[in-house]
Parts: sequence; structure tokens; C-alpha cells
Amino acid sequence: MKEEKLRRCENPECGKLLPIGNPKRKHCDKSCSNKAGHIARKKSNQWENEMFKQRKNIIKILEKLDRNKITFIANEKIEELGLNLNCSYLPELATGGKQILRFGKFLLTTNKTIGFDISKVN
Ligand SMILES: [Zn+2]
Repeated sequence: MKEEKLRRCENPECGKLLPIGNPKRKHCDKSCSNKAGHIARKKSNQWENEMFKQRKNIIKILEKLDRNKITFIANEKIEELGLNLNCSYLPELATGGKQILRFGKFLLTTNKTIGFDISKVN
């Protein structure tokens, strides 16, 4: 009896056995191929996506504070809200060694060590 070698579809959500007839064939069909590509891209962009999500969340909160005319956010509040300011783009240094973080149209400028002044980009 001829034994046919098999291998698994490379779509991690499928994993069906495929005949090895064509060694270049890695997936059952186009749909598995697309899905595997999607999963691989998602995995390789995981950190960027997470940072983007966190930045979007911070911008949403800053917009809310802006609507309420709030121009300062304390470190305690940042911690309480679980905001990760490390997801900012490359920070700038202003005069006096103050750090400026940008989130969308908002700038957070360090205010001593107690928090950040909130201003908007013109
Ligand atoms: Zn498959």
C-alpha cells in the first residue's frame, strides 16, 4: 500500500492534514491562506497595535478633559485611569528640561513632578 505523506495546513485555526503533492502548498485553500496571513500580520504588529490602542484611549480622555476645560492632569489621576504614557511618540524636551508628550492634537507638558499641563497644538 502506498503511503501518502501528509502535513498540516499552516493556518493555526485550521490545522487540517494536506497531501504533500505540491510542496509549495501550505494551506487548504485561499481562505486558509488569507487567514494565516492575517494572523501572522496581527502577531508581528501586536506591539504597535497595542500602543496605537493606548494612544487612542488617552486622546479620548484628553478630549473629555478639554471639553470640561481641564488643563492639568495629576500623576495620581493618570495612574488611577491606568494610562500608559510610554505609548507617546518620541517625547520632546522644552525649555527648563520639561518633557512634552504628544497625543493627537494634545500636548502634555510635565508640571514639576506632580502631573502634566494639557495644551493643544495650534
Ligand atoms: Zn486550512
